[in-house]
Amino acid sequence: MAKIQAIRGMNDVLPAQTPIWQYFERTVRNLVQSYGYQEIRLPIVEQTELFKRSIGEVTDIVEKEMYTFEDRNGDSLTLRPEGTAGCVRAVEEHGMLHNQTQKLWYAGPMFRHERPQKGRYRQFHQIGVETFGLLGPDIDAELIIMSARLWEHLGISEYVSLQINSLGSSEARRVYREALVGYLEGHVEQLDEDSRRRLSSNPLRILDSKDPQTQQILQDAPNFEDYLDEESRVHFSGLRALLDANGIRYEVNPRLVRGLDYYGKTVFEWVTDQLGAQGTVCAGGRYDGLVEQLGGKSTPAVGFAMGIERLILLLESTEKVPETVSNNVDVFVVAAGDGVQAVAFQLAEQLRRSREGMKVLVNNGGGSFKSQFKKADKSGARVAVILGENELNNGVVVVKPLRMGAEQREVKFDAMIHAVHESL
Ligand code: ATP
Ligand code: MG
Repeated sequence: MAKIQAIRGMNDVLPAQTPIWQYFERTVRNLVQSYGYQEIRLPIVEQTELFKRSIGEVTDIVEKEMYTFEDRNGDSLTLRPEGTAGCVRAVEEHGMLHNQTQKLWYAGPMFRHERPQKGRYRQFHQIGVETFGLLGPDIDAELIIMSARLWEHLGISEYVSLQINSLGSSEARRVYREALVGYLEGHVEQLDEDSRRRLSSNPLRILDSKDPQTQQILQDAPNFEDYLDEESRVHFSGLRALLDANGIRYEVNPRLVRGLDYYGKTVFEWVTDQLGAQGTVCAGGRYDGLVEQLGGKSTPAVGFAMGIERLILLLESTEKVPETVSNNVDVFVVAAGDGVQAVAFQLAEQLRRSREGMKVLVNNGGGSFKSQFKKADKSGARVAVILGENELNNGVVVVKPLRMGAEQREVKFDAMIHAVHESL
């Protein structure tokens, strides 16, 4: 019978990789929590309507990337393609926006039916941050500063750069859209196919086209900056001043539009040139209109999401994964002979209790000293604690450093912990 395989674009994360994931997730979690952000856990499946109404009917995501299905009741459900919509739904549903502000973060899988390639998958993972009820550019700046701090913690600051833009008010976008369409209609023949289609559906996305000829035509297109409303202009310069004052370098990219309809005013992306075409590792912006659009009271909001796979690829390709990040255990307890197993378990328990996070493996399944030492070596342990029948009878163990040149020594049971700590 043919073996069943994983779905294309949906990857297993194997034990050789999970330490890096854990390191990354731990680093992000510690950082965002140090800024006072609280975790929210959200369902992976939502009503399809939620994404249609928030992300926008004529975006790539909703038009062709969603995993949508009918459940047994006949309701149309969708595997979440991103986290913001569900987060807005949840905070609204639980009355968390009434006279209060929120600073939240979430992590988990997202699903988009895209063409799988390096850095682009059908199940991928994001860590996102969303804030609600904060109107000024200071919170936009805080989010950007926080993300910059994360790159510092991960040691990848030199490999990422920041692009920012303002998409203005919805009215400014409406007026600009008309001007852009007016201009591009005079060049329809030269536009790439996607852009031609977007001319009627989502013209701002054309600014984002990677097609060289379309890019050429866009050179002379009307500039959004000239259409920016006063409020957005002030907001944007406020943001820039805060970034400047905090030593955050950025490039204003007037072509940065983002692929989701709900953004207005600030948008930003962190990009790297180390991963080929899939260079955006973190992206976000302001979406002041979304809560109301989904039936709530008008609430300012801003957030971002980062792609975990891409950031892990970046950590690996730039060799920034710390050496300590591995599955290696600290201590391997070698136990051979009659009656030693029970004591071996007890010694291992004492070791685990002796220091938080200490990783201790006990040999399972018996075997000779020789075969157990092989396993100890393979485990990456730095110390072996050896217990045979003689040791058991004398109330001692042998503590043997496996990585350093140091000598092994025999110690009484009650001196074992001390001896192991010294050898680590
Ligand atoms: P891109 O322009 O690369 O398609 P996007 O604008 O669709 O990205 P967002 O919806 O803003 O991406 O998602 C935020 C981040 O999630 C991206 O910057 C990226 O790091 C990651 N991401 C998005 N789609 C995928 C995917 N299919 N596979 C892996 N990571 C992804
Ligand atoms: Mg995309």
